[in-house]
Amino acid sequence: MSSQKQIAIDAVLKAAKLCQKVQAEMVPMDAIQKTDRSPVTVADFGSQAVICKAIGDAFPEAVIVAEEDAASLKANPPLLERVVAYVNDFDAAASAENVCAWIDRGTGEVGNTFWTLDPIDGTKGFLRRAQYAIALAQIVNGEVTLGVLACPNLPFRLTDCEGQSFALGDSRMGAEEARGCLFVAVRGEGTAMYSLTGTFLGRARVSADAHRLAESVESSHGDSDAHADIANRLGITAPPVQMDSQAKYGILARGEASVYLRLPNPASPDYRECIWDHGAGLIVVEEAGGTVTDANGAPLNFLTGRRMVDNRGIVATNGQMHQRVLDAIPNVARGAVSRNCSNRD
Ligand code: AMP
Ligand code: MG
Repeated sequence: MSSQKQIAIDAVLKAAKLCQKVQAEMVPMDAIQKTDRSPVTVADFGSQAVICKAIGDAFPEAVIVAEEDAASLKANPPLLERVVAYVNDFDAAASAENVCAWIDRGTGEVGNTFWTLDPIDGTKGFLRRAQYAIALAQIVNGEVTLGVLACPNLPFRLTDCEGQSFALGDSRMGAEEARGCLFVAVRGEGTAMYSLTGTFLGRARVSADAHRLAESVESSHGDSDAHADIANRLGITAPPVQMDSQAKYGILARGEASVYLRLPNPASPDYRECIWDHGAGLIVVEEAGGTVTDANGAPLNFLTGRRMVDNRGIVATNGQMHQRVLDAIPNVARGAVSRNCSNRD
């Protein structure tokens, strides 16, 4: 595990640097729309290439199930050229052909042992210069055993959490040198926190206080009305922390929120969560003492494919209040589990 952990950390840190560079230099052509109308950028592709290359070099047999593939990039030579240029900063072997092959190492299938990768989680946050994450997890027999989560724009400590998206330029984001967090969780060994330059920041522990709820910035990615209702029932009076990406799991793990709710949005009742959106975050929270289930209290099932077709929504808490939160969710907000969903990846 220790060599896997170190390889994973090095790969994610490299990808985080690439993402920061792209964010600093971004031009409009660096972002395109996928067929499902969600955005993807030069940084998503570059991050996936760098991480899949590192994992593939170290563990040639490794199976990686990642969010992106190289098909749309191959069809867009100017974009591919931009990706190759960025990847080249980290790997002199980068060429159009190699970069596409490295990205496509991420098209593996879910099985007994695999990695799952979101090269940029919260791409919308990345484009807004707010929160985003690079999330890599290893899953063995359905259990997340290792999670590495980099949050390049996350302050080491949130000073004022009230209700916003922590955009760059917002004073609450803190000084640049007090920003950029890496969460590393190994099953049974806890969750450690580092800066992106490698300084150990401490062990993450959830907070026993029921004081604050975290949810997505994107109103369509949850049911904010139901979240507000539940917060009310739990006696949470502080406004929610709205944050893009799995950074929400990070702030829960380090005690800055006590609940992260992601109940199915009534407008997309057939939506099923993707494994790469939750694998790393789940272990970061669990190893910090918290609990993660779906909205019905069921464990997340990482073995049903790229999407967790058996699960509905996400409920993550400090552990102590988990059952109370589940009890406060009205049936309608849990969503019915229907198997004939038509989600694409
Ligand atoms: P967040 O930054 O927490 O809003 O999470 C971003 C992720 O939300 C993306 O990676 C998408 O996979 C996912 N997503 C897209 N549509 C939905 C939806 N209708 N419900 C929940 N999550 C979604
Ligand atoms: Mg994502």
